Amino acid sequence: MPTIAIYPGSFDPPTEGHKNIIERASKLFDQVIVAIAVNSAKQETLSPEERVTLLKGLFQEYPNIQIESFQDQLLIHYVQKKKAQVIVRGLRTFQDYEYEFQMALANKQLAPEIETVFIMADARYAFLSSTLIKEIVRLGGSCEGMLSLSVEKKLKEKLKKSR
Ligand code: ADP
Repeated sequence: MPTIAIYPGSFDPPTEGHKNIIERASKLFDQVIVAIAVNSAKQETLSPEERVTLLKGLFQEYPNIQIESFQDQLLIHYVQKKKAQVIVRGLRTFQDYEYEFQMALANKQLAPEIETVFIMADARYAFLSSTLIKEIVRLGGSCEGMLSLSVEKKLKEKLKKSR
């Protein structure tokens, strides 16, 4: 049976840190589904459609990576619907660890058959978050090495419009 892994997140915007985790996960599992959480309560910079398009563009050469979005629902229900066995998350700091540990335990309680697998952030990207990158771009800093060109272009366009 192929092992299907779901990598859920906001990806608002997808950074080089996310990209690194997705590439590494694609070597570990038969299929990786990058699942963009659509949260109507959260203020979003890029629309779900924009995030799907950007991520699809980044991974078009990878046959075992799929990009999808999922609406407000329990992650575990989505994972079960996709018949996936694994949830992938990235770990950067101790701050991530506390939150991720709690989520992994809650998900284990809800669906013991599903495993959460953590991939340690690459040292080059361990400082990088979508929130930080938006702040850098908004204030005119360089995001070289932090965002793919297509993502940088779209983010600049959106942040300019929202000013
Ligand atoms: P969420 O809103 O679910 O935290 P994010 O898009 O911020 O969504 O992150 C999705 C996952 O990717 C999380 O597990 C997060 O810890 C991980 N992640 C985010 N940025 C990085 C990075 N630079 N390196 C490694 N993992 C990361």
